[in-house]
Amino acid sequence: MISRHAALAYWLARDSRATAHALDLDAASLRALSTQRLRTLLVDAQRSPLNAARMRDAGLSRPGALREVELPLALQTFAPVSKQELRSAGSAALRDGRISASWFSSRSSGSSGEPFRVYYNARAWAMLKYLVKMRARRAMGMRLLDRVAILDAIEPGDEGHSLLERAGRLRRISVFRPPAEIAAMLAAYAPVEIYALPSALLEVARACDADAPRVRAQRIFTSGELLTGTARQAIAAAFGGTLSDIYGTSETKEIAWECTAGSRHVNADVVHVEILGDDGACAPAGVEGEIVVTVLVNRAMPLIRYRTGDRGSLLTTRCECGRASPLLGVVSGREADVLELSDGSTLSPYLLTMALEPITGLAQYQLVQVERDLVRVSVVAERGRDGAALEREIVAALRRALPAGVRVETALVDRLTHGARAKVRVVQPLPRSGARELATAR
Ligand SMILES: [Zn+2]
Repeated sequence: MISRHAALAYWLARDSRATAHALDLDAASLRALSTQRLRTLLVDAQRSPLNAARMRDAGLSRPGALREVELPLALQTFAPVSKQELRSAGSAALRDGRISASWFSSRSSGSSGEPFRVYYNARAWAMLKYLVKMRARRAMGMRLLDRVAILDAIEPGDEGHSLLERAGRLRRISVFRPPAEIAAMLAAYAPVEIYALPSALLEVARACDADAPRVRAQRIFTSGELLTGTARQAIAAAFGGTLSDIYGTSETKEIAWECTAGSRHVNADVVHVEILGDDGACAPAGVEGEIVVTVLVNRAMPLIRYRTGDRGSLLTTRCECGRASPLLGVVSGREADVLELSDGSTLSPYLLTMALEPITGLAQYQLVQVERDLVRVSVVAERGRDGAALEREIVAALRRALPAGVRVETALVDRLTHGARAKVRVVQPLPRSGARELATAR
């Protein structure tokens, strides 16, 4: 048997041109490609016991059914599936019900902290992990030999070990180092591109504002956290260059990337995105709901209508860059970031971040719902900003955004609390009540 790395190299070479070319397809050709891939996926997915059962439930298991139905419309007869459900399904979620030695895998942790592993056949891994990412970076102007720095959730002892790092092309820097130290390492390496969580970049920017060396880069790529408008401006101002936010999950890999015109293009040739409203039906364009994704190219562990737990919208507008792929609206945060208030109403985290956007001198913040009717905001002030005045403005802005009766407390801090993989959760509600959990688990 050929090694999986040889298979990976083969598919990287074989699919490289077609994957790059898919960015330039017109709308009809792109739709045709994704529909054809969806049909093939659904036929093959019946080899996994979990999906065979889902196909039966959706009424699509009889012979010929998939040839007749209209796709992607017919996908809506599938009940969406959550990470929790896939985890409980175990090997039933896999092709032929077992792990193959030829597969690749990646591990993620849920909000519960329980690890979850997704498997990919070599061709899917080549496309999702490498080719789709590379074409988006190239479209942003990145060149093959550019020096790249990644602020990564690794321990300092694990820096510098990979092949590309030893070749001097890549520098991985632990986000667990003090921000001033990260700034000094970045300044010394002088990367063309930096990849990082927004919160890590904001901390480095503040360190540079103090007395750490200045860091410049031509291109910044952010992902992994909600990128607020203020954070975007502050990062662009601190590092110069262009900023592109990438949206994806560790299970699906990259779902959408931001072009130079500022739109988030869905990688529609490899993922099919739907937005579900609170009633479980597909939301109209422009309306926010839960982002549900079908990965069109992975055969090892088919993800069909996979609930990302993120909230966002799809747009019908076309981007001025000319690319025909569908556009994703603002990704406003995790489904789990929606606040449930004492009167039973819910509040999108987006409304709270929007309320705080216009406030100047607010470097970073984190809003935690401590009780049903009490939110506490940790505030990092920009240098030279009057902290007390800043706190008063935040309280006033949130009072306007929140229903009467919800109290607001603020605290000035030097650094925000980081969660799993060094991520900062900007809005953190109380854990859901049982009723809401059931409603969203439908
Ligand atoms: Zn564009």
